[in-house]
Amino acid sequence: MINIKIGGAERFSLVDFPNKVAAVLFLQGCPWRCPFCYNTHLQAADEQESIDEEAFFSFLEKRKGKLDAVVFSGGEPLLQPKLSEAIQRAKSLGFTIGLHTGGFNPAAFAKVLPLVDWVGFDIKAPFDEQHYHKATGSQTPLNSILQSLDMLVASGKDFETRTTCDPRLLSIEDIYTIAEQLKERGIKNYHLQKYRPIPSDKESTEDMCNQFFRDKALISYLEQTFEIFDTRG
Ligand code: SF4
Repeated sequence: MINIKIGGAERFSLVDFPNKVAAVLFLQGCPWRCPFCYNTHLQAADEQESIDEEAFFSFLEKRKGKLDAVVFSGGEPLLQPKLSEAIQRAKSLGFTIGLHTGGFNPAAFAKVLPLVDWVGFDIKAPFDEQHYHKATGSQTPLNSILQSLDMLVASGKDFETRTTCDPRLLSIEDIYTIAEQLKERGIKNYHLQKYRPIPSDKESTEDMCNQFFRDKALISYLEQTFEIFDTRG
């Protein structure tokens, strides 16, 4: 028993790790409170785990040869003190390892980065302290996030960056700014994710959420700026 807190799991996913059939672990706890969070039930770190760790690993044992990968998602996986042990255990079963993170803790990220094969790194806002605090509902220093991102770029690991386009937090100009900032850091892989209003959001209309995706100039700019770019509905 490693003692990681599992808040949920997807036993078969084709969308959480590019070109891999994966099982996804949603780890309990997140230091952030993004206003667009779809997984608020995963935010509280002291919430009771909903899936027994041993049961999940015995499921993985049975799926050897049928699944390619295990993705550690959240919540924020870097909050788990035993994340590297859990990754090692999944690796020892022969699985390729994915990690979804916002990079809030560079020390925790440095510990697990050598163990993972691919990272999905969330970019919540342009790299501006106030804007990032608003988008994450937290006071995490922007510098910590940038340290994690730069570490990822320098590692040579396969990764993608992606932004959820919440019109309450981001404008089209902000996406141009993010793209410029990612390009300056040598990032070649970026994705725009559509925001679907959470139940408490009475402000965002379908039209507001779609504005990023129907802006031909923006999409064309992003296609030219990144080697790999797509939109996700
Ligand atoms: S980082 Fe993810 S899980 Fe945490 S609050 Fe933001 S959207 Fe929710």
